Amino acid sequence: MRPFFRKICFFLALFLLSGVSTGVEAQSGSKYFLPILMFHYVSTPPASDTFGRNLYYSVASFKKLAAFLVKHQIVALTMSDLGAGAIPKNPVMLTFDDGYEDFYTRAFPVIKKYHLRATLFVITGKLDKPSYLTTAQLKEISDSGVVEIGSHTVTHPDLTTLSNAALAQELTDSKRALETMTGKPVVSFCYPLGKTNARVQKAVAVAGYLFARTTSHGFFIDFKDPLALPTVRMLPEVGGKSFKNWWGVTGGR
Ligand SMILES: [Zn+2]
Repeated sequence: MRPFFRKICFFLALFLLSGVSTGVEAQSGSKYFLPILMFHYVSTPPASDTFGRNLYYSVASFKKLAAFLVKHQIVALTMSDLGAGAIPKNPVMLTFDDGYEDFYTRAFPVIKKYHLRATLFVITGKLDKPSYLTTAQLKEISDSGVVEIGSHTVTHPDLTTLSNAALAQELTDSKRALETMTGKPVVSFCYPLGKTNARVQKAVAVAGYLFARTTSHGFFIDFKDPLALPTVRMLPEVGGKSFKNWWGVTGGR
């Protein structure tokens, strides 16, 4: 009996491992495999400055990712696609935080060229400031129909430290400003610095947002928890090996 039991354990372990590492097990209860990739600057990482460096992803790497997604028929969703409730077998979500100008100059052309889709979280108080998007660029990005615009507040504060009134203002003022600029409803939100709690999430719901992304690491979204979506941080060195692992792509395909 003992070798037989060992054999069962071996195959069970293999099965579990293959599911976890490749995303083969796409669904588990209300949880779905969906890597929500987080980008900040799409630009060459600086040589020094360890903290800031992790906010950069080079345009060359981003092009490689885009080509990989297309080659392996990985479907790029936007935040509001989650409202449809169905997740394709090989999904990805590309999210960009803060609304830097290099989204327009570097990421947006690649997204259009490879027919991808993305979600851009904008700090409305930073629009038209140096190194951030201009209002005109934002309008063009939204009008393209391939990039969903979400809110990242007005001033990028730690929301957990604000009074209820100040919290509501950050949430509603940014939403209204973006809706006026784009002429489209804004239903997605991103917590500045990843800071959130039950009070903040309740305020996000009251302000009319349906989906919100955190900075907590994870590959599975939970439809029961749409205001606490996890993410995968795109560090400068993340490349093809990780992509193959995440979507279960082997060399032979
Ligand atoms: Zn941010």
